[in-house]
Amino acid sequence: MKLYNSLTKTKEKFKPIKSNEVGMYSCGPTVYWFAHIGNLRTYIFVDLLKRALEYNEYNVNHIMNITDVGHLTSDSDSGEDKLEKGAKKERKSVWDIAQFYTDFFKNDLKLLNIIEPNKWIKATDTIDDQINLIKILEEKGYTYIISDGVYFDTSKLEKYGRLWGENERNEMKGRIEEVKEKRNQTDFALWKFSPKNEKRQMEWNSPWGVGFPGWHTECVVMSIKELGIPFDIHCGGIDHIFIHHTNEIAQAEAAYGKLLANYWLHGEFLNLKDSKMSKSSGTIITLQTLKQKGINPLSYRYLCLNTHYRSKLFFSDESIEFAETSLNKLYEKAFELFNSEKTELSKKYEKYKNQFKEYINDDLNVPSALAMTWDVLKDKELSDYEKHELLIEFDKVFGLKISSIKTDENISNSNYIIKTFKDDVPFWTSDINSLPEEVKILINQREEYRKNKDWQKSDEIRDKLESIGWQIEDSGEKTIIKSTSYKN
Ligand code: AMP
Ligand code: ZN
Repeated sequence: MKLYNSLTKTKEKFKPIKSNEVGMYSCGPTVYWFAHIGNLRTYIFVDLLKRALEYNEYNVNHIMNITDVGHLTSDSDSGEDKLEKGAKKERKSVWDIAQFYTDFFKNDLKLLNIIEPNKWIKATDTIDDQINLIKILEEKGYTYIISDGVYFDTSKLEKYGRLWGENERNEMKGRIEEVKEKRNQTDFALWKFSPKNEKRQMEWNSPWGVGFPGWHTECVVMSIKELGIPFDIHCGGIDHIFIHHTNEIAQAEAAYGKLLANYWLHGEFLNLKDSKMSKSSGTIITLQTLKQKGINPLSYRYLCLNTHYRSKLFFSDESIEFAETSLNKLYEKAFELFNSEKTELSKKYEKYKNQFKEYINDDLNVPSALAMTWDVLKDKELSDYEKHELLIEFDKVFGLKISSIKTDENISNSNYIIKTFKDDVPFWTSDINSLPEEVKILINQREEYRKNKDWQKSDEIRDKLESIGWQIEDSGEKTIIKSTSYKN
C-alpha cells in the first residue's frame, strides 16, 4: 500500500512497525460548537484510510482525542480559550458545552457511517500526564517562563519544522508576532496561566502556577499513552501541518529523542465556492443544515469520495445535488441486482476486484475506484450476481451502506413499490401502510381518478405529491412511489 507522507513529501510504501497491526491517531474535534461539513470531510478521509487499511487485513488501533480544553481562538498563543468563550456565549458550564458538542459530533459520525475510533480520549482526562511531559521538557532545558505561561524554545531543537516545505517557511516569514515576550517567533505555549483577575471554569494547579495546558501538548501525551512512540500513522486536516503537528513532533523529539509517528497524512480542505468555512467566523454549514434540506448525510459522504483527499473540494448546491442523484442511482442499481441468481465468478470479476485494490492502495485513489464502480454496473460481460458482489465488496471501503439496503420479500409480487429510507438506509417495501397518512389518502384518490380516466385530476394529485416530497411513476401494473428527499 502506498501513502503520501507529509514528512517526506512523497508517496511511500506503507510499512507498519508490527507486521499486521497499525497504530493510528487522528486529531479530534474542539467541542465548543457544531462540527461543520469541512471538519467532517477530514473525518471521512480518516475513515477511508482506516477502512483501506482494514481492507488490506491490518488490525487498526485507532485513537481519537476530544479537545475539551486549551485550544485558543487562533492557532497562535493569544486570545481566549475556545471552550471558555463558547460557555460564556451560551451561559452554560464549560463541561456541559463540551459534553453537548461531543455527543452531537459522535452522532454526525454515525450519520456519515464513519467507524468509531477504538478509543476516545478527552484532553481533560490527561492533565497530569501533560504536566509530566512539560516537566521532562523543563528538565531537558527546552522551556522558559514569561508572564502568560510556560513556553517551548524552538531554537533549542535543531530539526524544528520537520513537516515544513517551501510554503510553510514562506508563511512563517509573513506571520505577525502576537506574544511579544517570546524568544522566537515559532515558540509555543505548553502551559498557560489563568488570567490574573479571572477565574476560569477549567483550570488546574501545576508546578508553574494555576492554569491549563496548551493545545499541542495534549495530542503528544494521548497518542503516546495509547500507542507508544513511535507509532505508525498520525493524521488530520492540512492546516495542522504548519503549527499543531509541527509542535507535536517538536515536543516528542525534545522529550524522548524520537519521531512521534512514521507516517503523517493530511486531508485537504473543503471550501465554500466563495468563502472559507470556519467555526470561529460563524459561516458554517453543518450536517444538520443538509438534513433539514432533505439531503441524505451519505450523499455528502459520496461527494467526498468523488474527490481525492489531497485535492481541494468546493461545496455548492449543485455538487451536493449531483452526489445525491448519483447515490440514489447506485442504490437503485443495487436494489435491481439484489436477488440475482448465483453464478460462477469470472476472470473479469477478478480483474475488477484487483483493480479496485490497486486504486485504493495507490494513496487512497477512491475517486477512480468510484468511477470504476459505474463501469462495473454497465459491463455486459458480468453477471448480475457478480455486479452485486462487487458492489458489496467495494462498499467495505466506500461505506455507503449498500449492503444494508433493506427490502421486503413480497415486493416483486406487489402492486406497489415504495422507495424510502428507514433507520438511515434505503428501504424498499410493498407496504402502502408504511407511507404517511396524508400520502396514502392522496394515492388512493389518484387511483380513483385514474379508474375514472380523469387524467387532469390524477395529474394534479401527482403534482401535489411531488410538492410534499413523493414522486409517483406508473410502470405497467405497478405503481412506484419514491421519496424525493432523504427521510429518516
Ligand atoms: P477543529 O474542531 O477546529 O479542531 O477541527 C477539526 C478537524 O477539522 C481538524 O483536523 C481540522 O484540520 C479540520 N478542518 C477544519 N476546517 C476544515 C475544512 N474547511 N475542510 C476540511 N477540514 C477542516
Ligand atoms: Zn492533535
